[in-house]
Amino acid sequence: MTNLPSTAKQPLSLIYLDANATTQVLPQAAAAALTAMETLFGNPSSSHVTGLQAKQIMDKARQQAKKIVGAGEGKIIFTSGATEGIQTAILSTLINAKKTLNNTNSKGKDYCLLYGATEHKAVPESLKHWNEILEINAEVKAIPVDELGRLDMDFIAREVPNALLICTMAVNNETGVYQDINLLDKTIRANNANIAWMVDCVQALGKQDLNLAQTSIDYAPFSGHKLYAPKGIGFMYVKENAPFTPVIAGGGQEGGLRSGTENLPGLAALSVIFDMLTGESEHSFTPVKTLHLFHQQIVAALIKVFPNIVFNHCFENSVPTTINFAIPGFSSKEIMDLFDAANVRVSSGSACSSKVTRSFVLDAMGLPAWQSESAIRMSFGPAMTQVLVDQTCSRIVSAAQALQQSCLTIDINSMDEKINADKAELDGLMQFKMGGSCSWLYVDNKTKTALFIDPLPEVTDRLQTLLTCRGLDLVAVIDTHGHADHISCRDSIAKTCLAEQESDCLGWPANAQTTNIDGNKCQYITLGDKWLVKVATPGHTDDSISLLLCEPVLNSTEALSVHYAFCGDLILMDSLGRTNFSTSSAPDMFTSLQLLAKLIGTQSLICPSHDYNNEFTTSLSAEMSRNLLLKQVINDEISANTFSMKKFTMDKAIIDESGSEIMCGALISTCDKKPVHEYDSASLAEAMKQSSAIKLIDIREPHEYALQHDENFAENVPLTRLVQFVQEHQDYKQAPLVLVCRSGSRSHLAAQALSRLGFAQVGHLKGGYALHQY
Ligand code: PLP
Repeated sequence: MTNLPSTAKQPLSLIYLDANATTQVLPQAAAAALTAMETLFGNPSSSHVTGLQAKQIMDKARQQAKKIVGAGEGKIIFTSGATEGIQTAILSTLINAKKTLNNTNSKGKDYCLLYGATEHKAVPESLKHWNEILEINAEVKAIPVDELGRLDMDFIAREVPNALLICTMAVNNETGVYQDINLLDKTIRANNANIAWMVDCVQALGKQDLNLAQTSIDYAPFSGHKLYAPKGIGFMYVKENAPFTPVIAGGGQEGGLRSGTENLPGLAALSVIFDMLTGESEHSFTPVKTLHLFHQQIVAALIKVFPNIVFNHCFENSVPTTINFAIPGFSSKEIMDLFDAANVRVSSGSACSSKVTRSFVLDAMGLPAWQSESAIRMSFGPAMTQVLVDQTCSRIVSAAQALQQSCLTIDINSMDEKINADKAELDGLMQFKMGGSCSWLYVDNKTKTALFIDPLPEVTDRLQTLLTCRGLDLVAVIDTHGHADHISCRDSIAKTCLAEQESDCLGWPANAQTTNIDGNKCQYITLGDKWLVKVATPGHTDDSISLLLCEPVLNSTEALSVHYAFCGDLILMDSLGRTNFSTSSAPDMFTSLQLLAKLIGTQSLICPSHDYNNEFTTSLSAEMSRNLLLKQVINDEISANTFSMKKFTMDKAIIDESGSEIMCGALISTCDKKPVHEYDSASLAEAMKQSSAIKLIDIREPHEYALQHDENFAENVPLTRLVQFVQEHQDYKQAPLVLVCRSGSRSHLAAQALSRLGFAQVGHLKGGYALHQY
């Protein structure tokens, strides 16, 4: 409990649609677990009455499990979960294989270990682990899947004769795609009668009928927490006579196959779930037929509000409880943030690896990269109800409406007046970030005109939607230079929005006017009551320009009043643009830096075309305090020659660490992040009690804020508008600010950025609303 005000006047009830990750423990299962802790708490190995009662619970659960999975003469061994079952199956097989290899004087490296390419990571990682520990040195090979996620039977037929073990899964956790177990059985056995076969059945329990003894499957791990039992309880099926080596030795529990005192509360809960599965409980699960209807209803709701939605799997060969999709133009993080704000828990359905967030499952199915990067998974279990499905559908509608209010999507047919009236204001600067690159949109709301600088292809659609939705006219779309790291989409935007406009190859309009600024002839265009002045600033490339959004120049001798300097790759945060391209010139950069400094001064905000380090914006004064070379140039302390020499050394340090992304400048000091004050809810409440001056700022995007907020609690300054906030608060840097977001990660970045730019009392709520909401 927290003593902070709630983020919503009427908090939305939670809708949990992430059952493939884990499930809540059902009340009746929790009650059984509690009884097993408080009353029937015996050790099943004890021979007194309390022990016998405990043993009865365990025996019942084992008989139920046998029945549910159709174990026949096979064994059921209770484990801590599926990962343990997977280890046990792999270890048992490999130890047995090692014996055979030793006896026949064969080498493990002549064999392979097969696993499906879409398998849960627990499988390939365990295969590699035990293969190495046991020094078998077999080749670990992924079985490819087709675009529907089905295993390649030809590959299996070819490889299985030479394999020591084959691991497949019944149902995939990301897509719900199920495999044809009978076909697999035939293919495997036709080509290798004796090979050990493990089938990960975690996601199949409760969603598919199982009859394991009717198949030649040797091992099948299961997990309780995926089906409303607590975490820490699972079980595995082992075919009679399948090789077995206990992973845990000790007191000889589970017939010596898995030692350690049994998890009786877990077993008691599991037993209740088993009763529900077999229909022997007053509480029953929803039949699979009805789950299909639920699936159809949710899919229909998604299609209605996101007409361009793409589903990442075919429903024909998937269980009905998993829906994996992508919405063009939105990253999975954005959709997750949106649904989280609507209090609907979904998963990004992807695995994080270094910088790129994408799904290896969808990659293996050969889906386009954007689908894999934008994947969202909704999953539910057989406890799903019609009421919850209805609530889910209406929550999907409100999430989509919030996107429309933010003008991130547009559906002209269904845009009702309320949405139009509620549209969040957009006036000023907006930053679009994609990886390390930035695009900038400047809007003058009064004249309904806009300007787009350094347009990235990934944001083109979003920009077009924004312009249409807000009725804005584009005045110009301009690149600050010919970009080497990405293809500009300037031409395509100009063709659509500025067909009549003549411009140079960077997009600078031919009808620009000329003025004299401090002795320099400069061209400018107008946007509302502001000017956009173009200044040639070669160096990074020979065509580089800087665009200065400033107050109109009434007197050519007066200093410019610059709001934003879009300087491309001349000055980057904590860096200078590289000068080792064929059209680069370090001496030109030297001159350009001195000119820019003269025109914009030390405090104007610099908006570069990259932000590798999540710092949003900067100023000359902020950069000079950490970039000695820049300081020396601006203060005229070094010659152009010395600068060029130093720049040459600096550029040599540029490492293309992202693989696909060309770094446009070498970072000078990557660990320059300032520590900021981190509040928890208690310390924030206390600080607010002490000082009424503390201003809370919710930096989530407007669509998230619209779904759940209390304007009395925090004002909304979306991260995409942070640079404008800095510009508007240049004279209020002493005010105490506390930033808040969903998880505390965006607020942390933004607080660090503000602190670096001189905001003296900025902190953030650690853990965000996620930890402090209720
Ligand atoms: N296999 C699959 C398909 C899963 O979805 C999971 C859980 O995410 C596991 C294995 C691991 O299960 P546990 O958490 O019980 O170890």
